[in-house]
Parts: sequence; structure tokens; C-alpha cells
Amino acid sequence: RADTAMYSAKKEGRNRLTFFTAEMQSHSERVLLLENALHDVIEKQELSLFFQPQMDLKTGQVIAAEVLLRWHSKELGTVSPAEFIPIAEDTGQILMIGEWVLRETINQLKNWQEQGITPVRLAVNLSPIQFQVQNLPEIIKHLLDEFQVPATLLEMELTERGAMADPQKAIETMKAFQQIGVRTSIDDFGTGYSSLNYLQQFPIYKLKIDQSFIRDMTTDANDYAIVSAIISLAQQLGMKTIAEGVETQEQLTMLQELACDEMQGYYLSKPLPSTDFQNNFLAH
Ligand code: C2E
Ligand code: MG
Ligand code: MG
Ligand code: MG
Repeated sequence: RADTAMYSAKKEGRNRLTFFTAEMQSHSERVLLLENALHDVIEKQELSLFFQPQMDLKTGQVIAAEVLLRWHSKELGTVSPAEFIPIAEDTGQILMIGEWVLRETINQLKNWQEQGITPVRLAVNLSPIQFQVQNLPEIIKHLLDEFQVPATLLEMELTERGAMADPQKAIETMKAFQQIGVRTSIDDFGTGYSSLNYLQQFPIYKLKIDQSFIRDMTTDANDYAIVSAIISLAQQLGMKTIAEGVETQEQLTMLQELACDEMQGYYLSKPLPSTDFQNNFLAH
């Protein structure tokens, strides 16, 4: 790979050569570092779960939370899931990480119940690798039974892109989730080219409108039109909608006018460690 890089870079002059190869090398070194560090990330107890509340726009009640994975590595410091999840997907490490997230989430629900705290439904992000390789509905059913937690307290988030990577398997998995009482939402909706024909075959509970459309919807007529169209589509298909990445009162007001069902974003709260989330948003 280095040879090819040097060959094509040489044609463009000496300066380009050093820049190109150095960048390539540091990127692959970083990936290798992360891969190695991820290897025993669970034994080293470097992973934790954060919780971001989701609010009903009609009642103002917090009715659920999204579970977001955090990695504080001793060697590498804090690494964003946007960086390490794709690497874990390439190596297959996402399977053990994903199972850890599910177990910890269900364990958290159990702990709240035992402390006399009324939990809210928790939404877990799923990688398409997980539902392609594992029998997820069975794994989840076992965990719910083991911890004696009702399936209605669990929701799965699958990105539109991930669902469309293998639509048949996605439909099959979602139907099995539905059968055990676990809901499925479509994450980052609007960015993944879904076929509307497939969409209506999925047992989808809600569409999560991608934050890229919410960001400028108060100033950009195109973004506004897309958000409005997604909400209408969901209403017609009997699905709920949630806006991701809501940061201002103006966005919130506009979403209420459009009859969006729920919101999530820094305007309400950033993702929080479990004790902060429980103290601020759960009823004792
Ligand atoms: P996502 O599932 O779409 O999660 C939403 C992301 O937006 C989170 O980033 C969240 O912290 C961020 N966010 C929330 N509100 C706001 C806001 O108002 N403004 C802005 N600018 N950002 C906001 P985070 O936690 O860094 O996660 C990034 C992505 O990593 C997630 O996107 C998800 O795709 C993936 N991820 C996180 N945890 C897991 C996990 O347990 N399993 C899998 N497979 N993927 C995960
Ligand atoms: Mg998500
Ligand atoms: Mg999202
Ligand atoms: Mg995302």
C-alpha cells in the first residue's frame, strides 16, 4: 500500500509525497491501536453507558432515554463511539460489545426497579452486524427473563442505512422483536435511502428524524420541508416521530407546530451518567 501511495504521490511532486504517506500511516496506526485496545475493553471495565432523555412534546414528560456507549481508555483517553464502533464492526468485536451493552442496559433497568425508582423505556443502538450474525431476539429474550425485566421497557434503534443493508433480515428481526414485546425505531432517518416499499413492511414504532435536518430547519426551507414530510409520512403509516439533536427553543416550537411526537437533544439534556440521569429525570 505504501508503494502505491509513493508511486502516485511522486507524480505530483515531493511535498505531496511526505504528506500523503504520513497521513496514511498515522491513520492505519490509529486503527491498529484501537483494535488492540478494544480487545480486552470489557475485562478492563473501560466501557460505560450514558443516558439521554427523550421528551413527549405534548405532555412535556420524559418518557424514554437513549443508551449511548462511552469508552474511557487508560492508554488512549476518551474515544468517541463514532470512531470506535466502525472499527469494532470491521473486526467483529461489536458482537461482544453489543452483548455487553444489552446486558448492562437490562441490568440498569433491574437496579432502578429494585431501588424503587420507576424506570423509563431504554433505547439501545444496534449494529447491523449484530442482527446479521446473531439470533438477537433470542439473546434479548434470555436477558429479559434472567433479570425479570418487562420487554416493554426495551427499544431497539437500527439505522436506516443498517436496515437497508439487509432488508429481509431486518424485517425478520423486527418481527421477532415485536413478538417478544420489544419495539424498534429507525435511527438517522432521512439519510439512508430507504425504499418506501420496504418501510411499510417493517413493524416500526418510530422514526428518528436525523439531526442534520433539525439543525437548520428554522432557517432553511428545504430542511423544514423534509422534516415536515417525514412527520406526515410517519402519521400516514401509523408510526411515531422523534426529532434528534434539538438544541434551541425555536426548533422545539416549530416541531410542536408540525405535530412531531417527541424530542431529544442538548436543549433538554446531553447524555448523562446513570446517577445524574436518575436524579434529574426519574421519579423516586
Ligand atoms: P446516534 O445513535 O444517532 O446518537 C445520537 C448522537 O447525537 C449521540 O452521539 C449524541 O450524544 C448526539 N447528540 C444528542 N443530542 C445532540 C444535540 O443536541 N446536538 C448534537 N450536536 N449532538 C447531539 P454519540 O453519543 O457520540 O454517539 C454517536 C453514534 O455512535 C450514535 O449515533 C450511534 O450510531 C453510535 N453508538 C453509540 N452508542 C452505541 C452502541 O451502544 N452501539 C452501537 N452499535 N452504536 C452506538
Ligand atoms: Mg441512536
Ligand atoms: Mg441518530
Ligand atoms: Mg448517528
